[in-house]
Amino acid sequence: MTHDQLTFQNPVTRYPKIQPPKQDQPEPGLDAELEPQTDHGEDTYRGTGRLQGRKALITGGDSGIGAAVAIAFAREGADVAIAYLPDEEKDARHVEELITKEGSKAVALPTDVSSAQNCKDLVEAAVDELGGLDILVNNAGKQIAQKSLEDISDEQFDETLKTNVYAMFWITKAALNHLEPGSSIINTTSVNAYLPSPTLVDYATTKGAINNFTKGLGQQLAPKGIRVNAIAPGPFWTPLQVSDGQPKEKLPEFGTQTPLGRAGQPTELAPAYVFLASSESSYVIGETLNVNGGMPTP
Ligand code: NAD
Ligand code: MG
Repeated sequence: MTHDQLTFQNPVTRYPKIQPPKQDQPEPGLDAELEPQTDHGEDTYRGTGRLQGRKALITGGDSGIGAAVAIAFAREGADVAIAYLPDEEKDARHVEELITKEGSKAVALPTDVSSAQNCKDLVEAAVDELGGLDILVNNAGKQIAQKSLEDISDEQFDETLKTNVYAMFWITKAALNHLEPGSSIINTTSVNAYLPSPTLVDYATTKGAINNFTKGLGQQLAPKGIRVNAIAPGPFWTPLQVSDGQPKEKLPEFGTQTPLGRAGQPTELAPAYVFLASSESSYVIGETLNVNGGMPTP
């Protein structure tokens, strides 16, 4: 199927109902090895010039949702820096090539965002290489499923909080030195903020925090002309899910609990990020845009 996102389509059948085989990848997981492969819009996403000349930093931009956003941003005319872990070089190269193919600048920044200094250095490197910054997408995330609270080690709890919440704080704080009026910050939260999975207590805690961070900071920065919003994906087929993000036995039914009856593909999220990044959403602040196949949210 090669329809772009602007073609009239039935959302039930736009993508097949996948039944992923049981599989296991070491963290952080690679799109290159995901079965079945996932769609980042490589062959479909059609840009309409909505981010011409903009400069974006996307954490976790190598794979999954971040990769789809990076490709869409480049096709909308933005230069894009992606941050990712050094083990993800293969996925990062794929995204870098696609950005460059659009005539946009691609900046690849391997770093671990679970440390404050790395986050500060990341922002400075992105600003140096892009010549500024006006879109920040805090999207890197850690998700490790555990059956009981006792199975969540103190280390796991700490790393999940550091990656999902502290990094967002550190990176955003560093970015504020550079963001001009008109800039946009977009945080990736989750349906887990409202419907916490019993196997993702630590992860769901961070996603609730990301929502509240977004709503508080959105009010604080609005008078400065900087908008902060969030996106809450439902079940999207990405490497996060096969690197212990879900219990193995649950993988074949991944996403079937949604009213659409299927998992989302990362490219189906990209237009939401483009909307919140571009000036067409100038009056949208502190909002969490749910893209989840129809699951009710507050
Ligand atoms: P993904 O594995 O493709 O992306 C997660 C990325 O986070 C990785 O590519 C990695 O680069 C980055 N990351 C993790 N730990 C890091 C660290 N210490 N330092 C630097 N980078 C690190 O999976 P995805 O599903 O696209 O996840 C992207 C975001 O979407 C995450 O915040 C996730 O919580 C959120 N989300 C995903 C789903 C889903 O169903 N896939 C649902 C709701 C929310
Ligand atoms: Mg990755």
